[in-house]
Amino acid sequence: MYIDTHAHLTFPEFKSDLPEVLERAKAAQLTSIVNIALDEEALVSSLQIAAAYPNYIYTAYGLHPHDATTWQEKIADDIKKLAAEKKIVAVGEIGLDYHYNLSPPDQQKQVFRRVLQLAQEVNLPTIIHSRESTKDMLTILHEENQGKLRGVLHCFSGDMELGRQALEMGLMISFTATVTFPKATIVRAAAKEIPLEKIMIETDCPFLSPQGKRGQRNEPSYVVTVAEAIAKEKNLTTEEVAAATSQNARAFFGI
Ligand SMILES: [Zn+2]
Ligand SMILES: [Zn+2]
Repeated sequence: MYIDTHAHLTFPEFKSDLPEVLERAKAAQLTSIVNIALDEEALVSSLQIAAAYPNYIYTAYGLHPHDATTWQEKIADDIKKLAAEKKIVAVGEIGLDYHYNLSPPDQQKQVFRRVLQLAQEVNLPTIIHSRESTKDMLTILHEENQGKLRGVLHCFSGDMELGRQALEMGLMISFTATVTFPKATIVRAAAKEIPLEKIMIETDCPFLSPQGKRGQRNEPSYVVTVAEAIAKEKNLTTEEVAAATSQNARAFFGI
């Protein structure tokens, strides 16, 4: 009854034991995992995993803002083809990351705009990554929204002010295990206030392990800790958060 809406299962960290990782996910009552592929090689692997685990693993495909300089039209062609074949459930992750600026901001913005247009063209939701780029991210989402834009702010790490702006734009908000970190009081306050029907949960594994497992590899089964932390903030049961966030994810991704 949990859905991990953002995992990177094709990363080398899962190379040796992915079947066991997915067994543990099933044992932890995960009903689906959305795997994020960010290059052609990851895409091929993700589609293979999805084929091996039908109706369990789903693929999203995009270009991370870090890699904006590697944009090529083939990515757009592939997204169109995969969308038509119903092999991907979202476009992403895409967005802006000014923390490292591994690609120049102007190029990041250009690619972000292009892919937001494309996602609306093929009628798929978008998974948005934004780090230290809130203002530009919101401006671009406003400007590129042709009325069909659907998006989730993944790995939400903002305050309720950003939460409010995102909700006003109709965006979904996805939390990782950062909500379990003792210092993350601002994020937890946002989790408390954001309506449950707007929330999804994710691991972003292999990164961002929950408190108690920090420094170790993260994996989809730990998404349970995210639901637990949100439940605590909202005075709900973990089951209620699990059921609602799963329903939200199914509606958002059409799975
Ligand atoms: Zn991200
Ligand atoms: Zn990610």
